[in-house]
Amino acid sequence: MTAKILIVEDEPAIRELLALNLRHAGFEPVLAPDAAAARREIDAALPDLVILDWMLPDQPGVEISRRLRADVRTRHLPVIMLTARSAESDKLGGFEAGADDYVTKPFSPRELVARVRALLRRRAPEASDEPIEVAGLRLEPQTFRVIAGGQALRMGPTEFRLLHYLMRNLDRVLSRSKLLDGVWGDHVFIEERTVDVHIRRLRLALQPSGHDRLVETVRGGGYRFLPQ
Ligand code: CA
Repeated sequence: MTAKILIVEDEPAIRELLALNLRHAGFEPVLAPDAAAARREIDAALPDLVILDWMLPDQPGVEISRRLRADVRTRHLPVIMLTARSAESDKLGGFEAGADDYVTKPFSPRELVARVRALLRRRAPEASDEPIEVAGLRLEPQTFRVIAGGQALRMGPTEFRLLHYLMRNLDRVLSRSKLLDGVWGDHVFIEERTVDVHIRRLRLALQPSGHDRLVETVRGGGYRFLPQ
């Protein structure tokens, strides 16, 4: 699963440098030169993390951060503030506006990528690409492989994402609408019974190793992935 990183920065050279380094690190960068473009991108599809420059032509980064925190949809969106200012009071201002982390220009791209990774792990474990193993079933997000008993199980990309989501939310009852949000995205409108179709395909894919028994149907609730 590729985490989508929105870069809001008006200086083209820095924007490109960030995009290049993030892409190289396996992320999907989305670029916005100002606050208005950032808002359009966020409205169109929620990114997994935002890198926000403090000084923008149309609106200060702190103001954008404040707005993100005030909206239910974007309240938990991880934000890294980027700035040329290093004064302690500015740093505090950034945190007060809801930024999760703070990087001062000039910065090392490697350090920034490390901070993006750390923040994603901290704030949005669903975007992390660490392998997960449950009851002998191993899912590797980076290689798109699901392995059980030394054998790779074959499944479609939707079943893979569905399984990843279920395994990350181990032992929790997930409603169909929650699964739609988590697996298909919050801006996609699909009928809830689509979930049932893909659950059926997922169970078939897990049958060879017997792991289909871990996918439990919860009457009137949705689905749950059992820990054993
Ligand atoms: Ca700037």
